[in-house]
Amino acid sequence: MIVSKPDIREITTKALEDFFIKHNAPKFRASQVKEWLWKHRKINFNEMTNLSIHDRNLLHEHFIINSLKIIKKQISVDGTIKFLFFVNENRFIEGVIIPQFDRLTACISSQVGCSLSCTFCATGKLKLYKNLSSGEIYDQVFLLNEYALKYFNRPISNIVYMGMGEPLLNIKNVLKSIKLITSKNGMGMSGKRITVSTVGITKMIKKIADINPNFNLAISLHSANDIKRSEIMEINKTNNLKKLSQALLYFYEKTKIKPTYEYVLLSGINDSIDDAKELVNFCKKIPSKVNLIEYNQVEDGAYEKSTEEATGLFISFLEKHNILVKLRRSRGEDIAAACGQLAIQNT
Ligand code: SAH
Repeated sequence: MIVSKPDIREITTKALEDFFIKHNAPKFRASQVKEWLWKHRKINFNEMTNLSIHDRNLLHEHFIINSLKIIKKQISVDGTIKFLFFVNENRFIEGVIIPQFDRLTACISSQVGCSLSCTFCATGKLKLYKNLSSGEIYDQVFLLNEYALKYFNRPISNIVYMGMGEPLLNIKNVLKSIKLITSKNGMGMSGKRITVSTVGITKMIKKIADINPNFNLAISLHSANDIKRSEIMEINKTNNLKKLSQALLYFYEKTKIKPTYEYVLLSGINDSIDDAKELVNFCKKIPSKVNLIEYNQVEDGAYEKSTEEATGLFISFLEKHNILVKLRRSRGEDIAAACGQLAIQNT
């Protein structure tokens, strides 16, 4: 019988300390190993040079190190870069670097595929294959940062959990990954530069509020009308707008973090002045900001992006009602790296 060895990155420091004690080694080896694993992201025990050969062999005998590999890169005419990562079990995910004047944003995935089936999203057309582990999420940031340092001469400045999957349905690993990204023993980045995006799983929004988060929250809203929202986002049937605003109020009161609403403008679907009015009313409930997103074409997608005129009128209406609003232009559309386009053929 083949017994597969556990992934050392998935076990606690305490369990690793117990392992070393059991094998007559000092327990501080555990923190040395953890530092190699995260801070230096060594994926080979032989590179852990302050451990004896004996200890390296011991680790090798009992554990594996699961890690992601970049297997393909595509560069858009606008400079956006899409990365294809190989995940264990013969799966693939995508991540993106979006260079802007003052920032270098990494857009990362939290799941292989997605279970939510939002009608306008390419990832939503896939099945959910698996949750990524905290290590697999961390790897995306580490590897994109390594790339950024090499090719842009500066580190990743912002991280958005807006790639494939629904972060709040993999909350345990997402929170663990954020801990690693922000920890001094990991990448030491500021949580203020991290945004987790969700379709609005209300139970989890409250749960996050209770743990005093150090990161930002974005909600994929896309309509402030229950009937319309349920048509384009299945999740609204069980987590409707009333539940969502209650959860967000709870979140805001506990954390004082203003949520950002993401709103993809779909021509003739959610871009009229009546839609804008409903959005204003929804926004007034909780201090918040709005990011309007240009719709990106999805294969056999039934939608079209809003016209410049409709977009302009929509923005003016929100501004007239004192809503903080930004328009996010499409990035990386030519290589299918833009919002909602991540869907590898062979996942
Ligand atoms: N599941 C999470 C994380 C994915 S974020 C969430 O939905 O928030 C991806 C963002 O891109 C979401 O705001 C999503 O609604 C948006 N999006 C999906 N399809 C899109 C498309 N075709 N064009 C533009 N944005 C899209």
